[in-house]
Formats: sequence, C-alpha cells, structure tokens
Amino acid sequence: MATVLDIAKRNPNAATVAVSDTARAAGFIEKTAELNAVAGAAPGGASLVGLTRDQLKESLAAIGVPERELKMRVAQLWHWIYFRGAKDFAEMTNVGKELRAKLAAAYTLARPQVVSEQVSKDGTRKWLIRMPSTGPLDKGAEIECVYIPEVDRGTLCVSSQVGCTLTCSFCHTGTQRLVRNLTSAEIVAQLIVARDAIGDWPDATPPDGAREKGLLPTDGGRFVSNIVFMGMGEPLYNIGDVIAAIDVMSDGEGLTLSRRRITVSTSGVVPQMERLGAEANTMLAISLHAVRDELRDELVPINRKYDIKQLLDACRAYPGLSNARRITFEYVMLKGVNDSDADARELVRLLKGIPAKINLIPFNPWPGSKYECSDWERIERFSEIVYRAGYASPVRTPRGRDILAACGQLKSETEKLRARARMMAEQGIGAEGVYAVGNGE
Ligand code: SAH
Ligand code: SF4
Repeated sequence: MATVLDIAKRNPNAATVAVSDTARAAGFIEKTAELNAVAGAAPGGASLVGLTRDQLKESLAAIGVPERELKMRVAQLWHWIYFRGAKDFAEMTNVGKELRAKLAAAYTLARPQVVSEQVSKDGTRKWLIRMPSTGPLDKGAEIECVYIPEVDRGTLCVSSQVGCTLTCSFCHTGTQRLVRNLTSAEIVAQLIVARDAIGDWPDATPPDGAREKGLLPTDGGRFVSNIVFMGMGEPLYNIGDVIAAIDVMSDGEGLTLSRRRITVSTSGVVPQMERLGAEANTMLAISLHAVRDELRDELVPINRKYDIKQLLDACRAYPGLSNARRITFEYVMLKGVNDSDADARELVRLLKGIPAKINLIPFNPWPGSKYECSDWERIERFSEIVYRAGYASPVRTPRGRDILAACGQLKSETEKLRARARMMAEQGIGAEGVYAVGNGE
C-alpha cells in the first residue's frame, strides 16, 4: 500500500495528501495537492506542443541542433506550432528534411486527448481533456475547458489546476479530491485543443455552418479572442506555470492573444497578486462574493488567511491599475446569504477609490450544493444599487447550463465516477486511508 508518506519520500515535490471532502465539512481552508506535475514536462512526454521558447530550445539542443542554429530553429518551430497549428513535422517545409526526420524520431506534435466534447444549445462548447502522465508518480489527469462564443468575441475559460485545493462552499470544483498543478504546457495545450476543435488556424476550416449558427463570433474576428482563468483551480497557487503559459499565449509571433484580453481570476491569494501584475500584466478578477469577513470566511475560506482589507489593499496596489484597466469583482448571488440591499451598499462603499467593474454571477447550483440562486428581482435590485453608484454591473448570463459548463460547475464526470469507486474502496480492504491537511502554498 503506497501511503502518502511513501510518496513524499520518493519525491519531495509531490505533496502529501489525498484530499477529503470532509476537509470542507471540517472547515479547512484548503486541501494539499496530491501530486505536482514535473516542472516543465511536456504533455505526452515528448510532445513539443505547449512548450515555452526556452523549453523548445532545450528540446532542440537535446537532439544535437548546434548552439548557433538554435535561435533560428526555435523561431521556425514556433511559427509552425503556434501560428499555423501544425500537427506534423512534415508540414514544416522551411525546415530541412534531415532535421524534420530527427524531430519526428524524438518528438511529436501530439495534443492532449479530447475525451469528450459537448456543445450547448447556445453554442458553448465544453471539452473534457485528458492530460497524459507527466512522470512516474502521475497517472495523468482530466480537466475541463469551456469555449463561449459571443457576437464580438470568443472566450476560452481555461483551468490552471486539476481540481482545486481550496474549499469555497458554493463551488463544485472545490469538492474534487484529486488535485495537482497543470504545467504551463498543459495550460497552453487547452488553447491549442480549442483552436483545433473550432478550426481557428490560418488554413483550417471551422465546423460546417459554425458562424451562421452562432457558434462563432459573427463579426468575422478571431474565434478565440479572450482567455479567462476561471476554469478549475486557483491560478495564483500555480503562478509560475500560469505566467509562463500567458507568455506563450500572448507571444506576438505565435498565438498572439492580447494580454489585455487575458483575465486571471483569484479567490484572493494576496501575496501573489503583485507578481501577477508585474510579470504577466494581465487583467485581474477577484472572487469577492461577500462584504463582511465573517461571511467571506465561510464562502471563500482563504479569507481567514487574507481578509477583505488585505485583499482590497493588494488590489489598490495592483500594477498597472487605472480607469482603463479596471479590476473585475465577481460576486455570486446567493439567496438570503449575500444579496441584501445592505450588502450592495457595503460593496459600493468597500470598492470606493478602486477602478472596478462588478460582475454579478447568478449562482449555478450543482447536485448537493447547499445554496440557491437569488431571485431575479433581488438580483435586479442589487444591480440597481450598484449601478446608481456608478458601476456598470452586468449580470453574467450563465452559458452552457445544459452541459454543466457554467462557472463553478466544472468537475469532470470521470473524476466523479472515480470518487465513487474510491469511496467503495475505502469502505473495503486495503484502502489508502491516510489523510492529512496542510498548507498548500
Ligand atoms: N479559483 C479562481 C478561478 C476559478 S473559479 C477563483 O475562485 O477566482 C471562477 C469563478 O466562478 C469564481 O468567481 C468563482 O467564485 C465562481 N464560481 C464558483 N462556483 C460557482 C457557482 N456554483 N456558481 C457561480 N459562480 C461560481
Ligand atoms: Fe477553487 Fe475558485 Fe472554486 Fe474557490 S471558487 S474552490 S478558489 S476554483
């Protein structure tokens, strides 16, 4: 029986714990990750897709490309992989035959496997993506990624972790037991998978009639124009790989997404906010959800570590903050919990002086959740108070509800099945019964 301690001994980077739903019940702030992916590992072991420039350079050096050629070769591969979406080294016509053969012998351009695709009535697509094992201790992992087409934009909602170590009481992802960080390559690969699926490459064709059916932006613009880190996981607990992935996604010679169109959402990991602003220079969203510490402690337990005052101070200090670059404050509408007029007024008071947008999110219920969504009239009244105070307060229309693709609902079906199997195993013999809770930072 491999206990948690065994794992820790074999790999000091692999964190301790099997995670328990009881962590939430017991009021823990966070669960510790079961396993970290091996830093810098490519998805699929030898696939070059998703790698940073430095990682590509190392991969080329490893097959004997001479130092003086490296820069030029990286530029060539970069163009083929990230600008054109090449799936085969044979397409790389400006790379010599000999090198192409060497590349093909050592590496692939494989994407992580799409286990399932669901298309909602409203055009939203959800992919369950299987990330291959990144090392001997990792069996691979499944994550979800959602694409939301709108008239003037296409937004891809990406995951930064498998599951989440935090235990926000209204969020389905927080109940997922298996947790590990995604590598930067795995984060980038989500964008590649999405662009493959919707034909968003220079020479690719979108699915039949996609634009006419409203599955793609109708203004003729780029399909995936915006990225939000609002899928599974807390991005600031995986900040190094999130920043590396953003660098790849926004590179002007490859995927070319504007940093202003990339939003990182955090539950409030205060010590990492400054670094995100300074190094990634993206837009920031804060999952606020409550205006009093007592309630936020319960809804977003990381508040017990970094309270509302510390969080808002970090927001005021966020690099690059201005009226043109506002912070989005997300506020989930929970019936009878955080949706009173007094809450709305306090919200406005708290945000005074911070260039802000307020995003009201109707709560998306999931099986077993203990909250209800506020009534529509209540949301309107709340929104009215916020609006009168000078904030545009769009209520985020839930998208893809029929395929459980809306905020906070992401938790892979396979994981659910596996959790059931594990529960059964735990009740039987030989189950791994070592649970601990630690500090996941
Ligand atoms: N971990 C990060 C990003 C992922 S969650 C964070 O918490 O910010 C993305 C957003 O969805 C967050 O604002 C989160 O609070 C919200 N969310 C989670 N569960 C939800 C639910 N059931 N209904 C509506 N919004 C939810
Ligand atoms: Fe994690 Fe965000 Fe869900 Fe909280 S709301 S459990 S931080 S994914």
